[in-house]
Amino acid sequence: QDFVKKAPKIELHAHLNGCVRRQTLFEIAQRKQINVDFSIFDLRNIRGAFSIFQLIHQVLGDLSDIRRVSREVLEDFRDQNVAYLEIRTTPKSCELGTYTKEQYLATVIDEIQQFQQQYGHKMQARLLVSIDRGRPLEDAQSTFDHILKLKNNNLIVGLDFSGNPTKSTFKEYEQLLEQARKEGLKITIHVAELEGDEYIQESLDIVNFKPDRLGHFNFYNQNLYNKVRQLDIPIEMCPTSNFYTVNMKSLSEHHFKEFFYQGHTINLNTDDTCVFDTDITQEHFKMIQAFNLSTDEFKQLLIRSSSMIFDQAYKPQLLQRINEYFSNHQK
Ligand code: 5GP
Repeated sequence: QDFVKKAPKIELHAHLNGCVRRQTLFEIAQRKQINVDFSIFDLRNIRGAFSIFQLIHQVLGDLSDIRRVSREVLEDFRDQNVAYLEIRTTPKSCELGTYTKEQYLATVIDEIQQFQQQYGHKMQARLLVSIDRGRPLEDAQSTFDHILKLKNNNLIVGLDFSGNPTKSTFKEYEQLLEQARKEGLKITIHVAELEGDEYIQESLDIVNFKPDRLGHFNFYNQNLYNKVRQLDIPIEMCPTSNFYTVNMKSLSEHHFKEFFYQGHTINLNTDDTCVFDTDITQEHFKMIQAFNLSTDEFKQLLIRSSSMIFDQAYKPQLLQRINEYFSNHQK
């Protein structure tokens, strides 16, 4: 596990507020005298996750909370030896009116910039802005307008489409995502998270849109699988999160096997460290164990991950760090 922990890893699918430290969440809740129902943390499936997000958003009601959480999340990934991180978050205004969407985004960006100055040599961090399908289209439009204003800022490298998959449809947001693509933003979309015919159809719509990356891709039929393979769209996999969503008996059932051994470009991520009580080392370690991956296969996995990053300018350095690590360390 130490070998995996020290390896320069790549995290591309982590939701900022879903990665708040539990301790921090409890501390802030206590200070604000917000009652936390601890039992919701036992419900580690997608529905349970959404009640946890609700609680997190309720507790983190001040800009100072957002600042603290941003800093701590960056530090946590750094301490797991992540060499390159794309953290994603949904810009929001506080329901109690203590901050606006612009202030929210500015705060997260400011924290990333400060981090970069101090620790950029250890971990490079970039931002993906999330569009929440659980909110109205106008909300997504206003988020997009804010991004355009911040475009010269090199930290925002892409757009993520996420939120409760039972709400609204991809089609409603397609035009906006197309506009974002025309503006030069890379696109990653949560897809096939749930089982059912209606989701298969939506997943086909999403894959046909040809996003730069796909998130999760839990449930598919042969046609959907062939399409993703043929279009060669990289997949961000989140083993522990997928384990609970799919209700697997063991991680060896993970769809990793249907992609990794075919040479498909995939990587491993945490999704929400707070919700799934995990970290990026564990995500790799568990899969190495589940599939008995060799050191060479682990290296291959990191190399494929590095080809998925949205800030392609950093790729050569990342590859160099991976190669150096594996040539200098014997397992
Ligand atoms: P935030 O955007 O507030 O920083 O992070 C939490 C949000 O990320 C959630 O409210 C939800 O919109 C999104 N999110 C986190 N994990 C998942 C997931 O597994 N699936 C989907 N569809 N959305 C998620």
